Amino acid sequence: MGHPSVKDRIERSRHGRPLVAAQVGATLKVRSAVFLLVAVCLSMTVIVIWEAWSSRQYHLQDKEVAMSNLAQTLASQAQASIKQADTLLLTLVDRLENDGIDAARVPRLEHLLSAQRNELRQLHGLFVYDEAGRWIANSNGAVVSIANNSDREYFVYHRDHPDRGPHIGPSIKSRSSGEWIMTVSRRVNHSDGRFAGVALATIYLSHFLGLYDSIDMGKNGVINLIANDASIVVRRPFNEADIGTSVAKGPLFNQLLPKGNFGTATVKSYVDGVERVVGFRRVEGYPLIIFAALNKDEVLASWRQESILRAGIVAFLLGFLGILGFRLIRLMKQQNQVQEVLLDAQEKLLEVNRSLELLALEDALTGLSNRRQFDLFILAEIGRAKRTQTRLALLMIDVDHFKLFNDHYGHLAGDECLRNISAIITDNMKRPGDLAARYGGEEFAVVLPGTDYVGAFLVAEKIRRAVQLAGILHTECAEGVVTVSLGVAAYDPASQARPDDLIGAADKALYVAKASGRNMSVIAN
Ligand code: GH3
Ligand code: MG
Ligand code: MG
Repeated sequence: MGHPSVKDRIERSRHGRPLVAAQVGATLKVRSAVFLLVAVCLSMTVIVIWEAWSSRQYHLQDKEVAMSNLAQTLASQAQASIKQADTLLLTLVDRLENDGIDAARVPRLEHLLSAQRNELRQLHGLFVYDEAGRWIANSNGAVVSIANNSDREYFVYHRDHPDRGPHIGPSIKSRSSGEWIMTVSRRVNHSDGRFAGVALATIYLSHFLGLYDSIDMGKNGVINLIANDASIVVRRPFNEADIGTSVAKGPLFNQLLPKGNFGTATVKSYVDGVERVVGFRRVEGYPLIIFAALNKDEVLASWRQESILRAGIVAFLLGFLGILGFRLIRLMKQQNQVQEVLLDAQEKLLEVNRSLELLALEDALTGLSNRRQFDLFILAEIGRAKRTQTRLALLMIDVDHFKLFNDHYGHLAGDECLRNISAIITDNMKRPGDLAARYGGEEFAVVLPGTDYVGAFLVAEKIRRAVQLAGILHTECAEGVVTVSLGVAAYDPASQARPDDLIGAADKALYVAKASGRNMSVIAN
């Protein structure tokens, strides 16, 4: 029924290594910290980028809405300005067709035209041309008798097209005043439907430009009034060379107008290649399109500034966090190293302690367990015997006439004798769970767990005989050799006996053995 001795137990406890678990825990902690730091930095970066992107979209959309509203307002303004002039044309055409044009009526007609022109601030002039393009009447008084306008675009258009609607031609520089004007014209017919001439109203471009210039469009913003044939009628910023230029190949005509009569978009200009946020709308009732656009770079300038500032702050915070995290992780690593060193030292200390403990449990002279270990062992074994309801025996051994041996052979020989007897005792203990101890002086104790009186007595007798047979010379006693006396006691698990009771019983039996002549084993009663 082998069970571990105190020595075994101590040996076994040496191999538990809490150090490894502590090291793994420390590495995990550092890894978690690194992971956390990287995760925080990454999420901050992602959030900032996402925020900047949505803010950019918001800025663009906001300006697209503004451009769409502006286009609507300007379209209404253009429509109202042109309609006023066109209404005059309509009555003028009606009058010419019904009353005819003869020289006698011209002064009265011109007076009327002049009065009407003065009523409308945007109106540059009202003109009537006959079928050959000659000036018949005009609101501005100055009759240029040799002037002929048959080469003008509006004249050619009406001559070649029978439709009666208003026509808006390319803007021109007035032959009468030298100013930039927009032309709105209608065809005049003879009663049989043949071409009879053209009634023309001219509107100052400055009327439109004045309004367009008063609107804050940034440095690179554009407002265009464009004819249906894609030629530019008015453009802000004003540049003479732009007037009449065709934007047919630009995005307005190729991408935007095919989709609808109004809308918004972000497109690259055909005229100057600048990317713009645009709003556009057809002018109701007239072949015109209004187009308002802001420079995308300017639209995004405030956003860019804000984003750079924000990115700077976040970069600073990230840097700060990074440095802080880096130092924290380095500190953690250092702490772990210190902890490792400490744990290592602790482990070594424990090892030394265990060795010391072991030394403290061993008898220096004989190598048997000492009294201390014996006390611990017997206490533990009695407890165990009680729990498991098993027996336990104890032998107390005392060398006979050892004082005489010492006196005769000397103390060193006495020590040698004690070592020999120890070896004999150990040799006669067969079970690994048994324990032999030097109880004190020339007295030994043997604990035999799981053994009853009979078994213990047999062991006692084996030892006694073996000592005698060893024939260690002792001329001072009757036997002539060294002998031992033994007291045998057994523990009854049913009793409430303590270690001292067992030792006392074995001692008493030993005393009886001494008293009865020595060199014998006696069982306690
Ligand atoms: P008894 O048969 O009655 O036991 O006689 P005894 O002489 O053995 O009895 P006693 O207890 O009077 O003597 C014990 C002696 O053992 C005394 C001491 O000199 C000796 N002794 C005790 N410890 C040691 C030791 O460590 N080394 C040596 N050499 N002698 C020791
Ligand atoms: Mg003694
Ligand atoms: Mg003795």
